[in-house]
Amino acid sequence: MEHEDSYKGVSEPKYDCLLFDVDDTLYPLSSGISAQCTKNIIDYMIEKLGIDETKVPEMCIRLYKEYGTTMAGLRAIGYDFDYDDYHSFVHGRLPYELLKHDHVLRNLLHSLPVRKVIFSNANEAHVAKVLSRLGLEDCFDDIVCFETVNPTNNGSVQDNNNGVSPRSLIVCKPFEEAYEQAFKIANINPQKTLFFDDSVRNLQTAKLTGLHTVWVGASHRTEGIDYALESIHNMKEALPELWEDVKPDIRYSEKTAIEVRA
Ligand SMILES: [Mg+2]
Repeated sequence: MEHEDSYKGVSEPKYDCLLFDVDDTLYPLSSGISAQCTKNIIDYMIEKLGIDETKVPEMCIRLYKEYGTTMAGLRAIGYDFDYDDYHSFVHGRLPYELLKHDHVLRNLLHSLPVRKVIFSNANEAHVAKVLSRLGLEDCFDDIVCFETVNPTNNGSVQDNNNGVSPRSLIVCKPFEEAYEQAFKIANINPQKTLFFDDSVRNLQTAKLTGLHTVWVGASHRTEGIDYALESIHNMKEALPELWEDVKPDIRYSEKTAIEVRA
């Protein structure tokens, strides 16, 4: 459209991409999925890795805190295991039936005239299953997950760290390297992207990379957090400007409609 450039010059949309975590972000923590996932991780550590049952709960939390995910921590401290086997044990047996189609969220996402991308530490099969259970499988333009940022490690342990640089073995949030990879792979400009996640530490590192941050499942903001939403369903109330950033040729009529309704 010939007037497009001049319209953009007047008011360029603040965001050209929305980046979403999946677990406990697109559905609430209260679903019970997360608790079951932790239980499966603990069982994997006991049953598959032979770790002393009494040490596992504390170790699980410590590794998560130190290495981003318990899986990354286990690998970093020297446990050798197949990543696909881990994922199918931990995620493959989750009670996905607890997740139901979310028509409200689906409508919200479909009504947003902005590119939408998933960024999860979980594996591809889990992300696909969750999106399908929630009825959101056609709401996103791209998916960045475990396999995307760990391409050479896909399904098998190919590297041997010998105790050196353990953190680099598995790439995951909250480390900046994971964000940088995601930006490159999905062609994301962090300065023009709004990132939704339930983990404050993921968001705080994200903020350092230039992303704008939304803490989902929280009622207050804190350092490094630009917006807080108790539920992803509150997006429109908290971020009405996302719906105003429509295509230049229809922005004026759309904006007027919003103003009148408000
Ligand atoms: Mg999460």
